[in-house]
Amino acid sequence: MTHQIQYECLLPSAPGTSRTVGIHRFGVPGALPKIYLQGALHADELPGAYILHHLIERLREAYRAGAINGEIVVVPLANPIGLAQRIQAIHAGRSDLGLGGNFNRSYTDLSVPLHQYLGRFAAEDITEETVRAFLKKEVDAITLRTELDSLKKTLLGLAIDADYVFDLHCDDEAPVYVYLSDESHPEAASLARDLGARAAIAGTSEMATFKDACARPWQIASRIAGRPLHGCLAATIEYRGTRDVNEETARMDANRLFAFMQRVKILDGEPEPLPPALTPITPLAGVEHLLADRPGIIVFHRRPGEQIAAGETVAEIVDPVSGDRGLVKTSHGGILFGHVATRLAVPGSTIASLAGISARMQTGEEAYP
Ligand SMILES: [Zn+2]
Repeated sequence: MTHQIQYECLLPSAPGTSRTVGIHRFGVPGALPKIYLQGALHADELPGAYILHHLIERLREAYRAGAINGEIVVVPLANPIGLAQRIQAIHAGRSDLGLGGNFNRSYTDLSVPLHQYLGRFAAEDITEETVRAFLKKEVDAITLRTELDSLKKTLLGLAIDADYVFDLHCDDEAPVYVYLSDESHPEAASLARDLGARAAIAGTSEMATFKDACARPWQIASRIAGRPLHGCLAATIEYRGTRDVNEETARMDANRLFAFMQRVKILDGEPEPLPPALTPITPLAGVEHLLADRPGIIVFHRRPGEQIAAGETVAEIVDPVSGDRGLVKTSHGGILFGHVATRLAVPGSTIASLAGISARMQTGEEAYP
């Protein structure tokens, strides 16, 4: 059993320079169960990085006590490219300012080559080891052109063979909520409870977020095998709002992640009792984004975390020049899980999102804010 800090170099984007990703590795490489956690993939979302700082402290103690059974990989700051992006002193860490777009989109979808590969096996011969070995080989074979390619390949390579992949983000203004890859996974419900999530939204989309890229191959493999393989539970965990970096909640959230790791036997020790569920698990297709229909100043009437009924007003958009006021109502209702930090409405932009209990989304609609 070891604890190592490793620095992985990315391809340079400018001559004579290079960036690195710092990786904490605990336990024995290849040991199962494996968990992978990363923070600040959207580089301006720092609450998760601070939670992982506290988690690493607890994992150091667990390592010294010989309490680590599986493999644990933690990358507290997953995006050195985004960390360095500033425009007139404002940090812009969500999208690559070069050619790459949103840092949490367009990961290589390995479910397509996996589908082809598994076609040569009889269903009963498909095992977790078969899938894991193929996925690792496919990530190794990804070709690189840009620094961003090498970042995505590095992160995917660390996560692709893990049983649990937790990608720590935050919203603008929100309570804790989570996107789960699969409601039917045996640990999905207990994870939402351990996190203290006020909304838990389950499903994957074809947008190839990091969570989706890690989970979708296992969903395809289980379908072809005709039985549930014990694959990856992936989660995008939204730890409140961008400014919610504080000592008390970061320690609490780290302790809750630690308890989950005890519960699934990655760590020895008796976990705290499982907290009560604060929400049902709702489908990804039940998410409703409320859009601004006019320019103006946003005045929110309801707060993140509140349950909103269909037809109720969530916000008003006010034009102080013309005096025009427009109500923003939800059509379907659900838990108001987050809203924007800006109070300037731009027509067509999302200003708030709700998790509804039943599917309503049409094919091709954007599932994530
Ligand atoms: Zn994010």
